[in-house]
Amino acid sequence: MAELLTVDEALVRVLERARPLAAETVPLVHAAARVLAADARAAVDLPPFPSSAMDGFAVRADDTPGSLPVEVRIAAGRPAPRPLAPGEAMGIATGGVVPDGADAVVPIEQAEDLGDRVTIAAHADPGANVRAAGGDIEAGGVVLGAGTVLGAAQVAALAAAGVAEVVCARRPRVTVLATGTELRPPGAELGPGEIYESNGIMLELALSSAGAVVERQSPVEDDLDAHREALERALESDVVVSSGGVSVGPHDLVRGVARELGVEEVFWGVAMRPGKPLSFAVRDATLVFGLPGNPVSSLVGALLFVRPALYALQGAADPRPAFRTGLLAAGATRNAHRDDFVRARSELRDGDVLLRPVVGQESHMIVRAASADALVHVPRGDGVLEPGARVRYLPLV
Ligand code: AMP
Ligand code: MG
Repeated sequence: MAELLTVDEALVRVLERARPLAAETVPLVHAAARVLAADARAAVDLPPFPSSAMDGFAVRADDTPGSLPVEVRIAAGRPAPRPLAPGEAMGIATGGVVPDGADAVVPIEQAEDLGDRVTIAAHADPGANVRAAGGDIEAGGVVLGAGTVLGAAQVAALAAAGVAEVVCARRPRVTVLATGTELRPPGAELGPGEIYESNGIMLELALSSAGAVVERQSPVEDDLDAHREALERALESDVVVSSGGVSVGPHDLVRGVARELGVEEVFWGVAMRPGKPLSFAVRDATLVFGLPGNPVSSLVGALLFVRPALYALQGAADPRPAFRTGLLAAGATRNAHRDDFVRARSELRDGDVLLRPVVGQESHMIVRAASADALVHVPRGDGVLEPGARVRYLPLV
């Protein structure tokens, strides 16, 4: 194998091939986990009117302290029929419209409600407990910019600002295909030499949670014709993600068959562990990832390269993996040539994240990996990282 690309170099090559897909208008209710392709602007001021932050009494601050008559009670969605007159108070609920003429709300806890009057003992400051119209955002303002990934807070912000439709890149269509004659679905009886297929379901979840519409093919035998047929069909999607069959063995057929079908290899092999024999190729605008078959290698490849590609296809402002930092709980020997991605459990310690590698770091050990919640990056280099060394990690999805 020629000099391997570093993880960073490989990611650059992937992202430069991942051009944003066409945009479409999407009802907000279908926009969760998608990426905005255009700025989304507020349809209204938010809040749309001066609104009470508390249950209490709307007053003129100048009239406090004092004993004030109460004729009107304002509920959320039920504004007062008239402005507040000098010298009066109106009952008001949280979210009620603060009436014209009022400039403060005295909380119920600081008032004595006598039914037709209220006694307010202390002075209220002008503006107290009044949420200004447009205080969160004004009508026409940008709620969220193009490139934003829509999580829970983001869809709520759009809904609150009256945005019923957004413009998003089309969701990438991904075909996942697992290769390997030995693979059987869970529930089937295992024959000699057979194992249960686990990469397909893993990749489907890891990729659909990044916005992809995933189609999963049934496992493909290590046979040229089966590979041709499966790959040909898969190449109709925006992204093909295969697992297995990208190493140097006689039964590793993915790259050869892909080449036959006009797929142009961009790179094969990344200086990382696990997941070294990962291949990336393109045919026209279709991206083709060949992930190694060992389940942990497949997972690492999906997190480091395929999910970023999906975000890039959707026009995300920053599609790269969202690394955080924490402290190593145990020392780690660095590999001179390859970046290591170590499965670890995170815990909070003195306000920082402590990362403890799990026992069982081999690339077939998916059960051990499943007990981890972090993928720790141990950069290639000399010597050891001491316990307490600051490292980057990727939360496991
Ligand atoms: P390969 O990359 O095809 O040489 O496969 C490497 C190892 O991963 C072998 O032990 C395979 O049996 C195993 N493997 C390949 N594909 C899968 C899969 N989809 N699910 C579970 N194990 C797999
Ligand atoms: Mg195989």
